[in-house]
Amino acid sequence: MKNSKLKKALVLIGAGILSVGMLGGCAPKATPTPEGNTGAQAAEETPAGGAGEFIVMGTNAEFEPFEYRDGAEIVGFDVEIAKAIAEKAGKELKIEDMAFDTLIVGLNNKQMDFIAAGMSVTEDRKTQVDFSNPYFTSKQMIIVKADDTSIQTADDLVGKKVGVQLGTTGDLFVSGTEGVEVVQFDKAPLAVMDLKNGKVDAVVIDAEPAKRLVEGQNDIKVLDAPFTEEEYAIAVRKGDTELLNTINTVIEELKQSGKYDEIYGKFFGAAE
Ligand code: GLN
Repeated sequence: MKNSKLKKALVLIGAGILSVGMLGGCAPKATPTPEGNTGAQAAEETPAGGAGEFIVMGTNAEFEPFEYRDGAEIVGFDVEIAKAIAEKAGKELKIEDMAFDTLIVGLNNKQMDFIAAGMSVTEDRKTQVDFSNPYFTSKQMIIVKADDTSIQTADDLVGKKVGVQLGTTGDLFVSGTEGVEVVQFDKAPLAVMDLKNGKVDAVVIDAEPAKRLVEGQNDIKVLDAPFTEEEYAIAVRKGDTELLNTINTVIEELKQSGKYDEIYGKFFGAAE
């Protein structure tokens, strides 16, 4: 093994992400950036918190196929799940689109009722929000130039410039790894653009968005070797048990009824 230190760091972080158990609550650390809200389906006028006729989903619509823009509309796998949650709650769904790293603060400031953003469960996040039961298993993957032979596994990222999306688990892994130069982007597609321009050597991102980002492009590829496993879940404010129960019921019902497979098929092809 070329770099056992890196392997060890990744295994440790990975273990943190997969392990279960509640930690104590704590207050959010930062305030969200107002420019993060692009607003097409935003709900600035709507008080979030479950009392109005709207229920508000917070997301970052730069994460195809989970949430992305199709014209003026935000669509995706998570949006379908959110629609089912809204239906169950008897409310109309509104979507707040903001920078990924401001979502948890936004949730705790009541700018939204829940986060559905391909958000991985981590120990740190569990101190700030309550997570639903997981609804999707993901991995972190590495995108490199198609002709790059110097990067084949996560070990090879040492000494390289690696692009990540700010505040994501990909950012967490890479930033926690000695010897890797991290370049943080607001949006994953911008990281991929800089990879294509030769400004970074690799991009670390979740598996499905990685696939979409390289689709139809000859000059970049996703490496075969994944290096973490993570679970996506929906986040609510700490103690919002009523909404959390509704969400868990919806996830369960979608799975039982076959609707989950239908949505899966719509965004990923044939069901697993
Ligand atoms: N799954 C990753 C995380 O939770 C990335 C999510 C995203 O970029 N939308 O950090």
